[in-house]
Amino acid sequence: MENKKEETKANLSGATGSPFRSLAGSPSCQVFTNPNGRCQNLQEAIDRASNIAIVGHNNPDGDAVGATQALYQYLLNIGKNAKVIYPNHFAQNLAWMDLQQSSINYQDHPDEIKTVMQGCDLLFVMDFNRVSRTESMAPVLKEKDCVRIMIDHHLEPEWQDFDIAYSDTTVSSTCELLYRVIHAELNPDLIDSHVSNCLYAGISTDTGSFSYSCRHKEIFEAIADLISRGLDTVKVHQNIFDNFSESRMRLLGCCLGDRLIVKPEYNTAYMYLSDADMQKYNYQAGDTEGIVNYGLSIAGVYFAAFFTQRNNRIRMSFRSQGDIDVNIFAKENFGGGGHKNASGGTSYESLEATLAKFEAALPAFYQNSIRPAVEKLKKTGYNPGCVPPEQEQDQ
Ligand code: 5GP
Ligand code: MN
Repeated sequence: MENKKEETKANLSGATGSPFRSLAGSPSCQVFTNPNGRCQNLQEAIDRASNIAIVGHNNPDGDAVGATQALYQYLLNIGKNAKVIYPNHFAQNLAWMDLQQSSINYQDHPDEIKTVMQGCDLLFVMDFNRVSRTESMAPVLKEKDCVRIMIDHHLEPEWQDFDIAYSDTTVSSTCELLYRVIHAELNPDLIDSHVSNCLYAGISTDTGSFSYSCRHKEIFEAIADLISRGLDTVKVHQNIFDNFSESRMRLLGCCLGDRLIVKPEYNTAYMYLSDADMQKYNYQAGDTEGIVNYGLSIAGVYFAAFFTQRNNRIRMSFRSQGDIDVNIFAKENFGGGGHKNASGGTSYESLEATLAKFEAALPAFYQNSIRPAVEKLKKTGYNPGCVPPEQEQDQ
């Protein structure tokens, strides 16, 4: 792998023979084909494969489950032998996508997954840009020598780890990108109602039910096409958003009632849940998904953070609006990353120390990123929360 990395780097910087091209019909999607790779064509890779593994990231969200299950159903539709693998559990409101209930997770079935990986000759990596995003499963993926394909929308993909990599950081979701890849390089006639529902699940969850990353018309053109292929938008919405566990609602209540800190001087709000909170409200996998967004729904808040502590490890989620770059914030302060408006990270310090570190980082981040971005938002009348307090009193 190391040698391949070096060779690819040389190629990436070389002026001639670029390994990059655009996806047909999607200029914003970069397709990397490794010149030293085992296969240069997606359809050919699928045609040749006997056993296909499809992997989603750790804590698989709606987009990761949607993209892996949509691709799985697509491959079943052409009679391929495939297996969907996740590093750990997904939330119960996503379970309907795993129609055959045949996916396996590494947390519960490490040996079975090692056997599947040994026998697979084609590996799809969906909705993550680097193998380390599969956490404890990463060593299994790293050492796997077979045709490797990535389809993803996160910043800074590790191209060199793949034979073919599709990356578009402007699309809403991996599901939207997969839709485009199927149209450009595979067979859209094989998109049936379940593939459509899974793709829509990823698009609707990664856009916060169409509240961000969805200004482009192509997303709605794709959805219109999916409706003609059997998508039921109402059913998908009910399955996902009217299907939460009681524990999630109680954890949300705890967050909003007792664990919300608003810092108006920094246009920031954050929430946290301690290990004890998680235990008290009987946390189940996926229960805290999306809770971070509630911070942003407060008028005048443009930067929201959410900290969840489990087993002495703290997961952090950051969300922002406009030009506030939380990818940089996560990277510089917590060694994390993600997108400009949605990123995350991990801390192994105590909850108190992590929150203190976050608060200590706020003044500089406010000066460098939040303040200029909010001033810009104010000029565009972007949000009523931007109205200066004195004006607000007049109204
Ligand atoms: P979430 O808050 O939903 O867990 O993550 C938000 C976004 O940031 C997701 O797109 C996710 O892939 C990315 N992300 C979350 N945690 C990390 C991290 O530790 N490192 C990097 N590079 N990206 C992350
Ligand atoms: Mn995604």
